[in-house]
Amino acid sequence: MNQVTRRKRRWRLIYIFLLLTLLVYIFSRAFHIEIRTKEPLTFLGNEDLAPVSYTDNGEAKGVVVDIVEALGVQIDRDIEVITMDWEEAQLNVLNGDADGLLYMNENEARQHMFDFSDPFLETEFHFFVRSSDRSIQNVNDLRNKRVGLEQVGYPYVVLQNHSDINSVFISNWRTAFQQLADGELDALVVDRWVGEYELAESRISGIRIVEEPFAVQRTGIAIRKNEDLLLEELNGAIKSITDSGELPQILDRWGGKRVIYLTEERFKYYMLLGVTLFLGIIVIGVSFFIFNLGQMNKHLTQEVERRTLELKNKNKALETLNYELQQISLVDKLTNIANRRHLDSELEKSWAIKMDEEQPLAIIMIDIDHFKTFNDLYGHVAGDTCLNKVANTLSSCVIRAGDLVARYGGEEFMVMLLRATSSDAYNMAESMRKKVEQLEIKNGQGQVTISLGVASMIPSKGRMLSDLVYMADRALYIAKQEGRNRVRIAREEDEKTSQDTK
Ligand code: GH3
Ligand code: MG
Ligand code: MG
Repeated sequence: MNQVTRRKRRWRLIYIFLLLTLLVYIFSRAFHIEIRTKEPLTFLGNEDLAPVSYTDNGEAKGVVVDIVEALGVQIDRDIEVITMDWEEAQLNVLNGDADGLLYMNENEARQHMFDFSDPFLETEFHFFVRSSDRSIQNVNDLRNKRVGLEQVGYPYVVLQNHSDINSVFISNWRTAFQQLADGELDALVVDRWVGEYELAESRISGIRIVEEPFAVQRTGIAIRKNEDLLLEELNGAIKSITDSGELPQILDRWGGKRVIYLTEERFKYYMLLGVTLFLGIIVIGVSFFIFNLGQMNKHLTQEVERRTLELKNKNKALETLNYELQQISLVDKLTNIANRRHLDSELEKSWAIKMDEEQPLAIIMIDIDHFKTFNDLYGHVAGDTCLNKVANTLSSCVIRAGDLVARYGGEEFMVMLLRATSSDAYNMAESMRKKVEQLEIKNGQGQVTISLGVASMIPSKGRMLSDLVYMADRALYIAKQEGRNRVRIAREEDEKTSQDTK
């Protein structure tokens, strides 16, 4: 191999190496593969502490598992979390088979065995008691009571100072809760996260939480002794995820998943509140509806009343108008007594009635004497006044119900008498004549007088109303002929004579 060939080969190797490096870089970027150069870390968690750390389908899960994975990203290390029996886990770390323990409460004994990271999770220990048991509100109420708790851990350390409490060590939360429900225990001291989760999962009822926490502790990671560098790395990462807001985000995420545990009383209270609110809303809705209905009804009633009144008024106005119209058509405008129309209709009605009763119907036909002369002498206005006075005088003589005095036309009048014999009618005619005379209205050399023709007849099939009128007219004619200012009564002979001459 000559020197040129060797150099070419070297350049080719360098070229291939660079190409491979570039490919690996592009591949890792594309598939988000982080190339970590540092040693991976193994952390162990309690398999029995849901939702803090637990095993789900062979996988480690829980709020601290997520936190420690976030720490891994910060310190640029692969993190493996294994959940297992807690005792075994502690032995593994002590033996150097794992790097640390998740969610371990710090105490004096443990400080000799492990170093502790800065705390990042708050643990609230609460008493869980039977709902019916109102006697336990705080630690002082636990005297001579059977209190279940873990043999290791912070509550145990605290409760050691209370020698009058009968501590019962428990190994399994579910069994312990059942014992509490059954009355074998009076209280249980449990981390709130764990207690509520366990209660919800097991559906054991009749247990309430004492709201006041019995003890609060902030918890972090326990690592092997003298791993100062790792401790420093972890504390730095804890600070970073706290400052960046990632830690609160993880807590929130798990807080959302945390089962809200309702004590029976609280459940009843919420139910009662819900039902009360619901009923309240319904009552308000119905009241509102009824109120509106009432208002609507009120408006409607008012509107109906208003319209009824309006209608009543209109009817009244119409009645008045009708009456006035009737009056106009039945009353003579000048003299204010009945007109010819009225007279004709009344005469026809009376004629029919009298025919049924076979009783006489009497009429008086009246004419003012020499009225033309009066008009000529004093004028038409004075003539009208005179007509009026005569009409009033005639009217004052007719007082019986059903009798009628009417203007027949021009200066002529007619009186209809329902219950008068011909002599009654004659008497009335005579009294009318006298009364007009007594008016003493001047007419030239003499005074205003009237002539009157009286006729009376029992209506029958062969006779007609016009016959009666004709008879009265004939009598009046005779009165005029005989010198005026007098009454003449029609006689059957006159009628016959006149009919013969026709
Ligand atoms: P006699 O009946 O006595 O025979 O004489 P006369 O003058 O009354 O008779 P005629 O029938 O000739 O005259 C009637 C007059 O009555 C004619 C008319 O001027 C008058 N007259 C009729 N109607 C009215 C009216 O409404 N007002 C006035 N002022 N006069 C009227
Ligand atoms: Mg006349
Ligand atoms: Mg006349």
